[in-house]
Amino acid sequence: MYVCGPTVYSDVHLGNCRTFVSFDIIYRYLIQLGYKVRYVRNITDVGHLEGDADEGEDKVSKKARLEKVEPMEVVQRYMNGFHSMMTIFNALPPNIEPRATGHIIEQIEMVKAILANGYAYERNGSVYFNTQKLVETHEVYGKLSGKIMDDLLNESRNLKNQDEKEHPSDFAIWIKADERHLMHWPSPWSEGFPGWHLECSAMSTKYLGTTFDIHGGGYDLKFPHHENEIAQNIGCCGHSPAKYWLHANMLLLNGRKMSKSDGNTISPQQLFTGESPHVTRGYAPMVIRFFMLQTHYRSTLDLTDEALQGAEKGFKRLIEATRHVKTLVTQGNSYDLATDTELLGVLDSLYKEMNDDFNSPKALAILFDLVTRINSFKDGHTDIQQISPATLIRLQQEISRWVFDILGLRDDEAAEGGTDKLDGVMQLLIDIRQQSRAKKDYSVSDLMRDRLGKLKIVLKDSKEGTTWGNE
Ligand SMILES: [Zn+2]
Repeated sequence: MYVCGPTVYSDVHLGNCRTFVSFDIIYRYLIQLGYKVRYVRNITDVGHLEGDADEGEDKVSKKARLEKVEPMEVVQRYMNGFHSMMTIFNALPPNIEPRATGHIIEQIEMVKAILANGYAYERNGSVYFNTQKLVETHEVYGKLSGKIMDDLLNESRNLKNQDEKEHPSDFAIWIKADERHLMHWPSPWSEGFPGWHLECSAMSTKYLGTTFDIHGGGYDLKFPHHENEIAQNIGCCGHSPAKYWLHANMLLLNGRKMSKSDGNTISPQQLFTGESPHVTRGYAPMVIRFFMLQTHYRSTLDLTDEALQGAEKGFKRLIEATRHVKTLVTQGNSYDLATDTELLGVLDSLYKEMNDDFNSPKALAILFDLVTRINSFKDGHTDIQQISPATLIRLQQEISRWVFDILGLRDDEAAEGGTDKLDGVMQLLIDIRQQSRAKKDYSVSDLMRDRLGKLKIVLKDSKEGTTWGNE
């Protein structure tokens, strides 16, 4: 499984967290089914231009220029922040996390192959993918995103370097660096850098082969990023790389697209501390993770304070049931075959729902059916002796497996109980809570860096409005 990772030039935003939590559940589920999964998730540290297409300055390079630091300092800082956030959300790390700058040779080799196969051309030191040739030979450009050539023409009409391209929908796979660009490498065509889309074609092929099972990413990556990845792989290897393309849909805030410019936005940190006009108070990361699971990954998810309050109640009820179920005991004294079989059927249906395109909301609904049964056993409304000891053991194992191993939820309260059990994540969260109470303008990103011990703490100067990590 290959999932497009973040471009590390700013703090990871909540929409990205939703994407990576979605794929974390898919990864966890496949492992639980017994698959041996190689999960590759890249870090983009060069080549992603501001316009998402062949336009504007490189995002990492620009940040480095403005802050007068090395591009790799920018990369390291936000990559650390991203990893901390993934740990807070209890997302497992991928098996391989390749970086674009670490695979320049592979990318140059891929450009050479695409050129040799006649799917690209060179202009003034840059190399462009020939989309018209692809349409002639494979008729596939635009298939994944459902875009038709007219749309592509409209979207690309005003882009830079259009005069170098044979067709407006062609895109750069190698870009000649101008004097502003801080990261560049020698190549047969120019001193330059790879186009953004190329890294994922090169790195997925390197680690997963020319055909692999699942390619994932955020919904916004369908076009141009994934469309161009498919084009490159066809140009290089003759076929599309992945059998299945999975896209996690957008996260909305109060029914609208998140946007910095109109203030309709909230960061993960603000959501933890409650320091935002969009929420009445802070929410624990596991409540937010639970909230994300309540909606299918392919659907848009609307974040509201009310929905989070509901999620908090649901999450607590589910976690309490994981504790209650452990206390149940049966000898099967009034064993009832029908009741016992029915309970086993409910447990089986968890897998049926999840096997249908990883339908986590339906699996959750079944888990809550089980929660009701567990509470009824616990309170004596239903006689636990109707259940065989073997079925009770399976119930106990499945509840733990689904809540903790598959859905990846964490019982933070239990972890907080013993101080010796406090791991780095718990300590980080406690620090966030305490620091945000004590000092309102101490940014959580600063805290993360502080705890990681990599960089000096920078206190936000609210008068100047400048801080590391937040634009
Ligand atoms: Zn990608």
